[in-house]
Amino acid sequence: MAAFTGGEAYKAEFEPTAYLEYFKFGQGTLGDEFLTFVLKHYCKTFTLGAVTGHTLTDIGSGPTIYQLLSACESFKEIIASDYIDQNCQELLKRLKNEPGAFDWTPVVQHVCELEGDRNKWAEKEGKLRGAIKCILKCDVHKSNPLDPIVLPPADCLVSSLCLKAACKDHSPYRAALRNISSLLKPGGHLVLSGDLGTSFYMVGPKKFFCLVLTEEFLRGALSATGFAIQEFDVLSRDDDTMQEICHFSGMYFIVARKEKAI
Ligand code: SAH
Repeated sequence: MAAFTGGEAYKAEFEPTAYLEYFKFGQGTLGDEFLTFVLKHYCKTFTLGAVTGHTLTDIGSGPTIYQLLSACESFKEIIASDYIDQNCQELLKRLKNEPGAFDWTPVVQHVCELEGDRNKWAEKEGKLRGAIKCILKCDVHKSNPLDPIVLPPADCLVSSLCLKAACKDHSPYRAALRNISSLLKPGGHLVLSGDLGTSFYMVGPKKFFCLVLTEEFLRGALSATGFAIQEFDVLSRDDDTMQEICHFSGMYFIVARKEKAI
């Protein structure tokens, strides 16, 4: 098991371009399996009308945009966020289409294909760029994770692969869920996705800690935080290749509705 890599390790050692290697879609990386699973679910969730609204906040966006590609079809305003500056900057570079920005084209094309027209990928990139209103600093351990900024509660929260990286144990995970829930309107939706069973992931040569998650724990933590689970999809994985990079045993995709403020 990797030692816990807290905020300071992220600031000092998390290299966005190394992390983005996972997202070279179609090149047989571990990210291919994850993207194939989650993009299908994001598409279903955000384009069939079940989860819509005005504002969506993404918690711990990292340097990635895959999690927002279908969401920008049903939300007018998106707020991205992350704990470390280098991820916010990498994201900004992509949104401004600056030289050297990561090429998301294969992922965007795949999402457009799922949504019905692969040829709309350039349009989709423009739509996402228009929807993302700001990229904020965020710390899920603060009672207002966007402190010092106070925003009106959002209609939807998305968070992918973030809480298991930020939280050392079950109790801080539950607290972080409570903290991010304060950014969501009662009746709003939380869309959580990630991997199950892994205790670390590699970013280039650096090993980062993951809190080992199980379906049972996630279900309990969400209900204890006042969420009603509407969808909980798990895809188990028994492939033991690439164990040295990340040895996850499954992937999950959750849609939960905030029933009450705890
Ligand atoms: N959401 C992205 C990135 C996941 S990697 C994706 O789906 O690929 C884990 C992310 O959690 C990193 O971007 C890291 O900076 C962020 N993170 C780590 N500690 C955090 C904290 N305390 N608050 C918010 N984000 C944190």
